Amino acid sequence: MAKDTPYQVLVRDLPVHRTFDVPPERVGEWLKGMPMRDALGAPDPDPQAGHGVADLDLYADGAHAFAAGTFRGELTVACSRCVNPVTLTIDEKLRVTFLPRHELPDDDAEDGRVDDADEDEGVVVNEEDIDVFPFDGERVDLEPLLREQFVLAVPFAPLCAETCKGLCPQCGIDRNTASCSCEPPIDPRLAALKGLKIPSGTGT
Ligand SMILES: [Zn+2]
Ligand SMILES: [Zn+2]
Repeated sequence: MAKDTPYQVLVRDLPVHRTFDVPPERVGEWLKGMPMRDALGAPDPDPQAGHGVADLDLYADGAHAFAAGTFRGELTVACSRCVNPVTLTIDEKLRVTFLPRHELPDDDAEDGRVDDADEDEGVVVNEEDIDVFPFDGERVDLEPLLREQFVLAVPFAPLCAETCKGLCPQCGIDRNTASCSCEPPIDPRLAALKGLKIPSGTGT
């Protein structure tokens, strides 16, 4: 069932200290389909997609496994105004618990609460504090964790700069580096008025 990825560690090898490199090809693959990645029109694979390094201590305790350490990396997405590349940096402390699937909080519970029936099983999962990933008991698969670092690093509307002027909605020119003489579109209701002569009572 578990597919082989370079991000798996066998439980029988724990405890262990490992570093994991995430190359640009992998970052590009993981972020494929995100609007702010696709908007770049980057080549595939994209050597500039980003990269990362996880530096982790992994250990096991009975049916659970744990990872603690750091993740550092960067990734490139499009500015939501001008579509130029924006490099985002990631510098996170990781503290993750791997639980057998039957102990995981029910994903279907919309409010994130664990069913009452699960409360006595001895695992208190406070989703605010720790990340929890599924675990088959034999190998710890870090790929979902590493992937999440990149996905969560992308803000809703990335900006190359707070002051980014964006693209002209008429001609598409990048207003940060060029200017155009496009007039803002006129509200059709006002356009109708523009043709009217406004009677002037001031005697001109
Ligand atoms: Zn921009
Ligand atoms: Zn323009």
